[in-house]
Amino acid sequence: MYIDAHSHLDHYSELDLVKALEEIDNYNIYTITNSMDLESYNTNNEIATKSDFVIPAFGIHPFRAKQYVNDLNELLPYMEESTLIGEIGLDFNNIGEHEKIAQMKVFEFFLENAKNMDKFVNIHTNGTETYVFDTLRKFQCDKVIIHWYRGDIDTLYKMIENSYYFTINSEMLKNDNIIKIIEAIPNDRILVETDGPNGENYFKDRVIMPREILSITRELSEIKNMKEETLKNLLIDNFQGILKD
Ligand SMILES: [Zn+2]
Repeated sequence: MYIDAHSHLDHYSELDLVKALEEIDNYNIYTITNSMDLESYNTNNEIATKSDFVIPAFGIHPFRAKQYVNDLNELLPYMEESTLIGEIGLDFNNIGEHEKIAQMKVFEFFLENAKNMDKFVNIHTNGTETYVFDTLRKFQCDKVIIHWYRGDIDTLYKMIENSYYFTINSEMLKNDNIIKIIEAIPNDRILVETDGPNGENYFKDRVIMPREILSITRELSEIKNMKEETLKNLLIDNFQGILKD
């Protein structure tokens, strides 16, 4: 059994999705499929009917915030029905002040309600780590999964102090800082992700398939100097902690 705590199954092409679901079922990969918006969530729900290993999450990605900022209350029923919330967060790359404000509003709306509903949130940070951390503290959100951490080590320590979970992916494993990051994250707060199929469109030329979680898990076990089986069990324990909490 494996876990993939951050994926976007609705982004696979029709053909790749068939293969992806086969891999998920063959390797028993429990997969959280995040949503970018309402349409994406509906597709993820439909995909989830095809495999018991697929867990859909509802969220409005920062890239879609401006389309929803004026209709936020309509999103509440979807938050209620979703096991956990994702993908939400902040990303201020290449956007103007208006869109930043929209992102902040949407993010705060989700955090306030996720806190009230006592649900885990799957968080996108890309250069916004300190804003994200401050906003999480403002709403006293502590059921937090940080996806693909790319920030400074001080903010990482603050997040760790607040017991957040972190998902490690193959891009992070290539980074020179990864040893520092992995050493800092306590064993009971570590998770893995593919961010398939294309890392939120950062890798247009490459399709990440679910079975890549096998090599990510193996590489992580080497870095952590742990038997692969021990790490797999640890990841499953951590994942179950999130789902039952
Ligand atoms: Zn994502």
